[in-house]
Formats: sequence, structure tokens, C-alpha cells
Amino acid sequence: MTFSDLGLGEAVLAGVADAGYSEPTPIQERAIPTVLQGRDLLGCAQTGTGKTASFVLPMLDILAGGRTRARMPRSLILEPTRELAMQVAENFDVYGAHVKLAKALLIGGLSFDDQDRIIDRGVDVLIATPGRLLDHFERGRLVLSDIKVFVIDEADRMLDMGFIPDVERIIGLLPPTRQTLLFSATLLPEIRRLARRFMDQPKEVAVAPPATPVDTVEQGLAIVETGDKRAALRRILAEREVTGALIFCNRKKDVDILHRSLAKHGLNAAALHGDLAQPVRLDTLERFRNGEVAFLVASNVAARGLDIDDLPCVINFDVPTNPEDYVHRIGRTARAGRSGRAFTLATPEDGVFVAAIAKLMDREIPRIELAESDTLSFEEGGREGASRRRRRGARDKGERAPRGGNGRRSPAREPRSEEEEGDGRRRRRKRARTAADAPAEAQELVVGMGAHTPAFLMREVPDKGGRRGEDS
Ligand code: AMP
Repeated sequence: MTFSDLGLGEAVLAGVADAGYSEPTPIQERAIPTVLQGRDLLGCAQTGTGKTASFVLPMLDILAGGRTRARMPRSLILEPTRELAMQVAENFDVYGAHVKLAKALLIGGLSFDDQDRIIDRGVDVLIATPGRLLDHFERGRLVLSDIKVFVIDEADRMLDMGFIPDVERIIGLLPPTRQTLLFSATLLPEIRRLARRFMDQPKEVAVAPPATPVDTVEQGLAIVETGDKRAALRRILAEREVTGALIFCNRKKDVDILHRSLAKHGLNAAALHGDLAQPVRLDTLERFRNGEVAFLVASNVAARGLDIDDLPCVINFDVPTNPEDYVHRIGRTARAGRSGRAFTLATPEDGVFVAAIAKLMDREIPRIELAESDTLSFEEGGREGASRRRRRGARDKGERAPRGGNGRRSPAREPRSEEEEGDGRRRRRKRARTAADAPAEAQELVVGMGAHTPAFLMREVPDKGGRRGEDS
């Protein structure tokens, strides 16, 4: 099967040739003819399957004939995050290089005025995150009654991030006679409900996920003390001849600290996290993509959805506390059949988190030995065991036993990712899921201090006589 067998026009086929694709992926083979027929489509496919081209290519074909009108876009693609929206916009530029269509990218962090000017000139394709799209609509600068093709991409992540009410509001602003395409990695009951309400007898297309990174990435884990992590990282980079890597920290402040440390040691590094202004983030990402920056130190925001080609190595400077994050992080490498490596630095207290990852992957992460990891192993009882041991050790030395390692009550844990900051509901749901998914050993622990938020802190505070929050 070739792309020309799918019914796409010459101009779009020229874009596909520019992209260098020789044959369609399974989702493209099955979705493109359906979309070209004008039918609604429910696609069960995840990133890495080629799903973006499966809707962008036929959309280009459908829109190629029509007329652009000021402030009345003809198609709308909703994405859950800015980064995904940017990626889709980039794909649109490549595939649509030979089709005369205008697009606008409506995402947070970019100036409203610039985006308004583009909309005023007239666009064929709007690529947006739900919140920013509604902001534009409420400013009265956007008319959505001419939308002919509507795409909800990564619907399960929209759900996870609490965006479905926004999506429903947006659907209410669209004309009923549109074509709707919905893509989701999993068709959860809530997604099916959404499809039943807003789609017209959609054709369902499901493809198997691509080979998981668990199979294709060479992994290694070293156990080192927290204070030795930066030296251990430099040793891995030097001894394993790592020339470029995406390096993940669990906390934003550690991203900055590690970035400064790498730079001080003469390594070509940059930092990426949600506190940085959007233009800075875009610029940093671009410099990493084009090889100007060798080591990108990032928080979780970069972990999901980003498709950076030729990423040879991923490093977990911290063990992710959510095992799924580990798989997402290492999934940044070994894409499209290439080989890739992933190294993880764990502290002796991280045993429960590493065990949860091994359980999820159904295999252990192979150990690597470094000078810094000499003789270290995971402590029994994880973080609680470690803090108990620290207190005992302090008692033995006749010191006052510190609580939580520093004698002070730990501040609340920083949000694990910037995506979480935006949505408290999602954060609570995610924490609950993390606790429930943890191995039995982890669930029994009362982790009062440290990086893990104890379950009792997440419980609702009872309302005393209806004066919530007035007691103090
Ligand atoms: P996606 O699932 O849309 O995120 O695509 C994953 C990766 O596959 C991207 O890097 C695309 O450029 C690439 N890709 C998409 N379609 C094809 C194809 N037919 N042949 C080769 N690579 C493709």
C-alpha cells in the first residue's frame, strides 16, 4: 500500500514525499480513506503510531478547495498541551507545504494580539488548547460557526487534565453539520460517552501501540547517595560517551540547580520547565532539537507527547514517583526503530518506586556500577525506613533526632509537573491513583516527610459548622 492508493490529492502527496514517508502506517491506512469520505472517526491510537498525519493529511485535502474567510476558521484541532499543539502545527507545515492554506496556533504563553492579527487575516486551520481557544472566543475575535472538520486529539489526556467540560463548551459553539474526528490512546467509558453524544455514527479504527520503549531502550540504573548524584551523572555522561541527552528531574528547583552545575563543569546544557516564559521554552526546545544544546535538563512537562527525533539518551536524575512517568520518559528515545539508552539515578531510599516501575514493566531495570554506587543497595522499608534509620543514627551519636531528615516539617511537595499546576482536580486525582497503584509495601508506609505526599494530607478537612477556613 502506498499513500497514493489512499485517495489523497497530488499536492498533499508532494508534502508526504517531502516528509520522507514511503508507506502509510496502519492508522493512516485505515483512517485516511474514512476521513476523505467525510465520515466521523473514532481512532484508538497513541503517539508514535503516525496518528497526526492520519488526520492532518486528509484535512489538508478536504480544505484545499475552499475559501479562507476572516475570523471564520474552517477546521479546528484541539490538543491538551501547548507542546502537542506546536508539534501538530509543525507537521501541518511539512505536510501542507504544497497546499495554500493558512493556520493559526492558539496556545497559552503567546501574545493574544499576534494571534488575533492572524485570525483577522483569515485561517483555514486552528490548532489550539481548549482554554486559550475559549479565551479568544470570549474576546469576540473568533467565529466558530464555519468549522467543517473538528479534531479532538489525545482525548484521554484531555480527560485526565480535567479539560472535558471546556471541550463540551467548545462543541456547543460549533455547527452541528461538521465532521468530527476523535483520537485517544484508550477508549475509556467517558470517552465513549463523549463520542456517543457528539459524533455521528463514527467509524472506529484501533491500532496496536508501537513496540514499547521497554523492549527497545537499553536501560541502566545506579544507586547513589543524593549528594553524589551530580558526580554520578557526569561519570555516566563521560564513561558511556553520551553526547546528548534529555535529563529529567522531579522538581523544578532541581532542574535549575542541575543545569547550573552542568554548565559549571563545561557541559553544553539548558533548562526547561514551566516557570520559564513560553518564548524561552520554545527557543530552548528548538536549540535542543537542532543540536545547539547537547543536554536538556527538564521537568515532567517535556516528558509526555514531545517527539524529538534522534534523541539518543534519556537520563532520570530522579526516579519518577509515578511508574508510568518512567515509561513515558524513556519513551523519548529509541523512536521509529532507532536504538536508545536510558539511565536512572536512584538513591537508597527509592526502592519502592523502582519496584513499582519494575512491576509495571514486568522486568527489573538492569544495574550499572559507578564509583559513586559502590556497595550501595536499596534500603528496606524505602523512605520511611531511611528516615527511621537516620533518626536512630542521630540518637546513637547523641544528637536530637531530626524529623524528615532536617528537623523541620517539610513543606508541601512541589507539583510533579507543570501540567499538574494548572489543574488542582487533576493533581488530586493523579496523586490518588499513584498511591493506589503503588505496591502493597508502599501503601503501608506512612510517608510523613520527604518527596511523597502522605495520603492523610489529601483528605478533605471536615467543615465545622459551615465556616470552612475561618477557624484560625
Ligand atoms: P505521531 O504518532 O503522529 O506522533 O507520529 C510519530 C512519528 O512517526 C513522527 O515522527 C512522524 O513524523 C512519523 N511518521 C508518521 N507517519 C509516518 C510514515 N508513514 N512513515 C514514517 N514515519 C512516519
